[in-house]
Amino acid sequence: METALPDAQAQLVERRRRVEDLIARGGPAPQLEDFLSQIDDALDRFAAGTYGLCDTCHDPIEADRLRADPLIRLCLDHLTPSESRALERDLELASRVQATLLPPPQMTAGTWQIAYQYAPLATVSGDYVDVIRPEGGNGSDLLFLFGDITGKGVAASMLMAHLHASMRTLVDLGFPLGQMMARANRVFCESTMSDHYATLVCGRLDSTGGLELLNAGHCPPLLLHDGRADALEATGLPIGLFCVEDFTSRQAILVPGDTLLLYTDGLTEAFDGDGNQYGTERAIATALSHAGDPPGGLVAACVEDLAQFRGTARREDDLTIMAIRRST
Ligand SMILES: [Zn+2]
Repeated sequence: METALPDAQAQLVERRRRVEDLIARGGPAPQLEDFLSQIDDALDRFAAGTYGLCDTCHDPIEADRLRADPLIRLCLDHLTPSESRALERDLELASRVQATLLPPPQMTAGTWQIAYQYAPLATVSGDYVDVIRPEGGNGSDLLFLFGDITGKGVAASMLMAHLHASMRTLVDLGFPLGQMMARANRVFCESTMSDHYATLVCGRLDSTGGLELLNAGHCPPLLLHDGRADALEATGLPIGLFCVEDFTSRQAILVPGDTLLLYTDGLTEAFDGDGNQYGTERAIATALSHAGDPPGGLVAACVEDLAQFRGTARREDDLTIMAIRRST
């Protein structure tokens, strides 16, 4: 709330200036004057100290909604039926847009088999997954991206779309992973709301089983090899925290039968009804007992074990799990 207010006031003043400009240039007067009076009402509410409070219940309106539209006067609980229907339609549309940004749920590329499940908590998700075949690579050359934008819902999903677009552009420019991430970080940092950041894993795979992996503050992916699970810990901070950051990557080789398992904290930070956390150890145990399964089976086993652990406790976060296996 506190962080939204100064933004909103500055936005209102800026919008007022633009509307007056449009009126001066002969824009549609009745409509613009209506906007102007709504803006002046909002500025009056600022002066009176009542700005940002719902007209119906007088509780604070959700900060991210105010940021997106500083003229709104009702909290989510007190929208009129037609406003509420319009919001539902918009969310449905946002969800369809987000679905078009996802890679196919199962794919085979050369020596690699990949499967993932993407389960938003609400209509849209702040989780991010993408698999890209770089231009000019052979069938086994792949780049994958896997991450989690802080927060949930529409704001996070829009940042996910933003990150998706900048990564796709950067991949085509052919930078090494570290440089690609540094550039993505700068773009993300300079174009987002300051209270959002993203944890992100970026990896490059080749036909010899080579893996180059960069982990910017994300839950450690598990490399399942020969009955062992190696946790590939973060090599840097999440992106969007500081505009200038260095990112380093690590190298590994996957032999036929090895699998890399990636997950968002919707897995390890889930709670059961008694307040116990699922945790990394249980994730590792489940992964190891299904390490020989094809990627789709391994992912399904993880999702199922989490559901069993959670029981009737409510889900509280988006969840994404992806497995990448080097086939024999
Ligand atoms: Zn209200």
